[in-house]
Amino acid sequence: MLNVQKLRGDFPTINGQNIYFDSVASSLTPMVVVDSIIEYYTKYRANVHRGNYDLSMQASEKFEGAVMKIAKLINASLEEIVITSNTTHAINEVALTLDFKEGDEILLSSLEHSSNLIPWLRLQKKVGIKTKWYNPGKLGLFDLNEFEKMLTPKTKLVTLTFVSNVLGSVVPVEEVGKLCKARGILFLVDAAQAVPHFKIDVKKIGCDFLAFSSHKMLGPTGLGVLYIKKEHAENMMPAFLGGGTINTAECHCLSLDSCDIDACTFSELPYKWLAGTPPISETIATGVAIDYLTGIGYDNIHEHTANLMSRAMKGLTSIKNVDIYGPLKAEQRNSIVSFNVGDLPPSEVGRILNEEFQISVRAGDHCAVNYFKDVQAEGTAPGNVRASFYVYNTEEEVDRLLNAVEKISKLTV
Ligand code: PMP
Repeated sequence: MLNVQKLRGDFPTINGQNIYFDSVASSLTPMVVVDSIIEYYTKYRANVHRGNYDLSMQASEKFEGAVMKIAKLINASLEEIVITSNTTHAINEVALTLDFKEGDEILLSSLEHSSNLIPWLRLQKKVGIKTKWYNPGKLGLFDLNEFEKMLTPKTKLVTLTFVSNVLGSVVPVEEVGKLCKARGILFLVDAAQAVPHFKIDVKKIGCDFLAFSSHKMLGPTGLGVLYIKKEHAENMMPAFLGGGTINTAECHCLSLDSCDIDACTFSELPYKWLAGTPPISETIATGVAIDYLTGIGYDNIHEHTANLMSRAMKGLTSIKNVDIYGPLKAEQRNSIVSFNVGDLPPSEVGRILNEEFQISVRAGDHCAVNYFKDVQAEGTAPGNVRASFYVYNTEEEVDRLLNAVEKISKLTV
């Protein structure tokens, strides 16, 4: 069982009456993670993999230890981990690296975050690929049979968010992985909202790529992860090249003029994919965040947030004028409630919650404009109000949200 009151003491920004319900955008960070960043800058500040002196070797050792923890967290090997700056960067790296040809199809869903959409639209314009949309409707429930019908011999890539950042609905990624594997289709999983909540196993999912961000799972900003299945990591030419990615000791070029990139020997994995100086303190701090997260345990996280979720859903469904988006069964949604109150614009509800009730929620389209275009009436400002829960939130905080929404709902009658 999670001792939430004790755990809250680990988070320096939890104080006073303010309630933080925007962990989907970015989680709070425990002090041990902040301390590890301070420790790097004050005790062993040096670059990694560059120097054969003590400070650099100490930094390298801590850095590599943290990358190992990242790999273990998702059941990948060290060679399959590419350090990026966030999920968005990770997905762009795949989009820039894969070879597409005109007519290739990419299948995604209307629940995708812009980060898993715009990079593909760019390829649509540049290369002439076709993006196809699976629409899970207002409830956001995934129908595998309907989805399967949209796969064609031209589908080169399926790219899906594991947990929707708008609804908290969950995609059956293992089943999708099987469909893709049987057809030789590449599969990318946007796990930005999944890694903070679920034990991920890339082998079980059977994906080729998986992306997530540390700042949503108690870690620092500035650190993203791209998992690339080993065979692709070995065979693909990374979009970003430079210092550290090429094995210069094995280069036989007499000058750069005569250098042929195809004849280059890349550094061993995963350094082939690590162009330039990586985010060192952020990677080390991510290792500490992983220790903290796994110390709590995914089962405890799930039990706690599922309890908050069902309390919130029970309360919200009983308030008149509240229109809930996404699955109505609490167990079908992960840590997110998403709703509108009467005809009040979501931004107004967000403003009142902040100014009158000291509750931080997100109001707007949550970077998923296509979903709202599909499910809201034309002319409506796209979006809703989203409250998201994590390990440090309490039942009392959920009750304060419900009381506040009830009061706001009376403004609309
Ligand atoms: N995908 C999903 C599902 C997200 O929720 C987010 C962040 N809201 C992103 C991608 C982008 O993450 P980041 O800003 O860390 O790149």
